[in-house]
Amino acid sequence: MSAAPQERVIHDSRDAVSPGKAEAAVSTGDLPLLGDVEAALAGARSRYASDDSGQVADYIPALATEDPALFGLAVADVRGLVTYSGDSEHRFSIQSVSKAFVFALVDEALGHDTVRRAVGVNNTGLPFDSILAIELNRGSPVNPMVNAGALATTALVPGRDATEQWDFVREGLSRFAGRELELDERVYASESAANQRNESIARLLGSYGRLQGDPSEVTDVYTRQCSLAVSTRDLAVMGATLAAGGVNPLTGERVVDAAVCRDTLAALASSGMYERSGDWLYEVGMPGKSGVSGAVLTVSPGKAGLAVFSPRLDATGNSVRGQRATHYLSGALGLNLFASAPVNGRQG
Ligand code: GLN
Repeated sequence: MSAAPQERVIHDSRDAVSPGKAEAAVSTGDLPLLGDVEAALAGARSRYASDDSGQVADYIPALATEDPALFGLAVADVRGLVTYSGDSEHRFSIQSVSKAFVFALVDEALGHDTVRRAVGVNNTGLPFDSILAIELNRGSPVNPMVNAGALATTALVPGRDATEQWDFVREGLSRFAGRELELDERVYASESAANQRNESIARLLGSYGRLQGDPSEVTDVYTRQCSLAVSTRDLAVMGATLAAGGVNPLTGERVVDAAVCRDTLAALASSGMYERSGDWLYEVGMPGKSGVSGAVLTVSPGKAGLAVFSPRLDATGNSVRGQRATHYLSGALGLNLFASAPVNGRQG
């Protein structure tokens, strides 16, 4: 059976029990005890520290100078306990991991249905910077985790001009991290000078009427958001905020609504690892987001945020050690959302 193009059976919030609200019933488990988490992180580090496959990103020249041996891991639980190993304090540019949090802020500001209509939430099946994906979808940015959808999302950020939008983004991401995040000026200058592809994507979306505002200004705010400096620990805390119904477990501040966390994690599950998102869910079983500086962030709702940083990437732009260590930790810490154990119940 072939559906008419753009027709959706699951349509906005018509069938939701409580549209745009997190349902009252939430069921999750607990993380293992602290000593077990520490042992799992140390185990992951020693297992994968000698894997030097992959390449450090160089299409943004400033990223190419990163030390490929860096390897940081951190778990932040929903009560604010942060466990870490390796280079977890090293700062790097957040890159595409920012897309998850800008999406959350815009979803909070504009609402579930508006963001879904303006951006979309389906996987492109194509690389993160694909222009073909826009054309194949008749101008739709498709989802907020690829560059087209991220640019369309950043365009929706509240503010009278690009300066106010940038303030909104920087302050919002800082609330997720629980500290004031700053721009990595070197990465920002380097990416700005090599940004022709993102500029083109923004203009193409504009030509379809799918980008609000001036394409150059939107691209600039997007480039700034990607150049915010974070550590692996920061990312774990940002993830823990999404795992904890939108309340930052370090500061106690409510950053976004619990329903926004649910929306964001759904978008990550379908598209956070780009065209590898299906493989990722099948193997790791958690919503995740990667960035070309080498970070992989995963979120276990109700339990923790888990971040791994190591700069060498595979061909899709996902950190090699980041993926392998996260896969291992998902199993070691029991984080796969699809796993269950047999229960001795009534047998009929
Ligand atoms: N700033 C990068 C870009 O737009 C982010 C890409 C990524 O991390 N995958 O190309």
